[in-house]
Amino acid sequence: MRILVCGGAGYIGSHTCLGLIERGHSVVIADSGVNSSPRVIPRLRRLAGVPIPVHRADLRDRAAMTALFATYRFDAVLHFAALKAVGDSCRRPLDYFDNNISGTIVLLQAMRGAGVRRLVFSSSATVYGEPERVPVREDAGLSVMNPYGRTKLVAEQLIGDLCTADPEFRAANLRYFNPVGAHASGLIGEDPCGEPTNLMPYICQVAVGAREKLRVFGGDYPTVDGTGVRDYIHVVDLARAHVDALEYMVRADASVTVNLGTGRGVSVLELVHAFERASGRRIAYEIVGRRAGDAASVYADPSLAHALFGWRAQFDVDAMCRDAWRWQAMNPEGYRTVARREPASSRGRRARIGGSRAVDVV
Ligand code: NAD
Ligand code: UDP
Repeated sequence: MRILVCGGAGYIGSHTCLGLIERGHSVVIADSGVNSSPRVIPRLRRLAGVPIPVHRADLRDRAAMTALFATYRFDAVLHFAALKAVGDSCRRPLDYFDNNISGTIVLLQAMRGAGVRRLVFSSSATVYGEPERVPVREDAGLSVMNPYGRTKLVAEQLIGDLCTADPEFRAANLRYFNPVGAHASGLIGEDPCGEPTNLMPYICQVAVGAREKLRVFGGDYPTVDGTGVRDYIHVVDLARAHVDALEYMVRADASVTVNLGTGRGVSVLELVHAFERASGRRIAYEIVGRRAGDAASVYADPSLAHALFGWRAQFDVDAMCRDAWRWQAMNPEGYRTVARREPASSRGRRARIGGSRAVDVV
């Protein structure tokens, strides 16, 4: 299939482009660049070994989206393009509504105009708010904790209404838990702007000395060691889930909403210690007060994805930490880094990089 990947230059989108190409699909990226580096593209092309057309386009730009759908005949769209920082969304909710919701509407209109009726949407476990029980199943109650979460819930609802109105429209809402890790090559990974708000990138920056110490938000939760518990999922497992979901949607001619997590809860301190083992570095930390709005424990019941399309996470927390560390050590300043050697602690465990042709298309 030929797939339009909106937000394909971002963290999860870039890994998913590789996953699609490995399974024989062709990929066109549309990305506004609002949260991605242009440097990801040559690396992606090098890893993929095939041409990847890239269009710098904002989903809200109706003319650009219409032109894109007129240029290519797409079989499906993967929609990663959103702003995603919870705290930022509380400070400027209108920008989040505009980017994430208006962007989704214009995309859906462009798809409709071109007769493209398959969408895979990046949703989030945030749509469950503070879950009443764990592990969280897809039929748990939905609620909104912040403007970012509202954009995900509203987008799922818009997509649901479209499926009702157009019986031929198929959608897969993928509710991610906590994506971490990086591609085994160490060439692509997560590159947050400014001070990271998520746990793994913060740990990575402490490990390379860019931050002094981790602040652990809360040591008095009713969990294994008092720190918050989450379901961390390797981004490469997540990428594979997109391809599995897409192919299932086509094969079964069905829409789905599924959780993507490992089903295993890991505390903040467990992740810190796993990272220390993987990197051989000590992670300085201090336990401080709870972060407002944080739940004690959130992890998935991922059994529906397995029952429907046979997907199950394969990488454990050690692999997530090893790959996150390799990426960080090779790219201490993210995509701004020119070139570093692979860290000694992870050498010899690297997967083979497929292809090595640098292709310039756009
Ligand atoms: P990311 O910021 O790395 O990637 C998003 C990409 O979309 C970026 O390259 C950005 O430039 C682009 N983009 C944003 N708005 C756009 C627009 N209007 N038009 C075109 N391009 C636009 O984020 P990510 O971590 O890869 O997340 C991908 C998706 O997954 C997002 O929708 C996010 O909300 C969702 N998600 C992420 C997480 C997480 O922890 N990373 C968890 C749950 C859900
Ligand atoms: N966390 C922390 N220090 C940080 C960032 C996060 O202790 O600097 C904790 C946070 O309280 C939560 C877990 O790490 O228990 C995961 O937080 P993250 O922001 O990565 O994901 P989310 O809260 O969205 O699940």
